[in-house]
Amino acid sequence: MSYTYSNDELLDGVAAEVVICTKCDLWKKRNKAVPGIGKTNAAILLIGEAPGQSEDNVGEPFVGSAGKFLDELLAEIELTRKDVFITNIVKCRPPENRDPQTNEIETCTPYLNRQLGIIQPKFIITLGKHSTSYIFSKASLIFRSISQARGKVYETSLLGMKIIVFPTFHPAAALYSAQYKTQLLEDFKQIGNELLKRGLIDR
Ligand code: URA
Ligand code: SF4
Repeated sequence: MSYTYSNDELLDGVAAEVVICTKCDLWKKRNKAVPGIGKTNAAILLIGEAPGQSEDNVGEPFVGSAGKFLDELLAEIELTRKDVFITNIVKCRPPENRDPQTNEIETCTPYLNRQLGIIQPKFIITLGKHSTSYIFSKASLIFRSISQARGKVYETSLLGMKIIVFPTFHPAAALYSAQYKTQLLEDFKQIGNELLKRGLIDR
């Protein structure tokens, strides 16, 4: 009989490669790489952009001020971090928090794709334009702008899996704009309803 690896073991395997990865130049200035964290068979996967300074210090996604707001958004729909899996399209911090470059996204996303294949989520929440644009490209959806894409459900197929994608703004946007904050709260309310409707959370 052959041994079957658990999701925990498989995701630990990906994380072990990420923390020593030198495939793009971002490794040179990182303190800690940030593979991702959460429930290893989660129905709900959240994908951000890239680690910031706090995340680079700790090695976990969304532990800084944007992360605090993300916790509030999750709490709005009665979820905690333990109920979901959270990661980023790029696993190491870009210097001065600049946007991740196309080549960095291309080099790093095979890790994300492997995580997706292991977790097999049903519902992906993309946070911000970079994550949405990447997932849209993989799902053969046309990305124009985050403002145009957000707040809607896309039933699609991604890496051979039937998946629902729901894009919204990056939670960091709420820290400088009350309007983004309101829209994020509205989007999460809608996400809660969609999850409920699909039996992916219960009340
Ligand atoms: N912003 C992101 O996109 N990801 C993090 O992990 C933290 C901040
Ligand atoms: Fe490797 Fe991704 Fe970090 Fe680049 S960003 S060094 S590809 S883990």
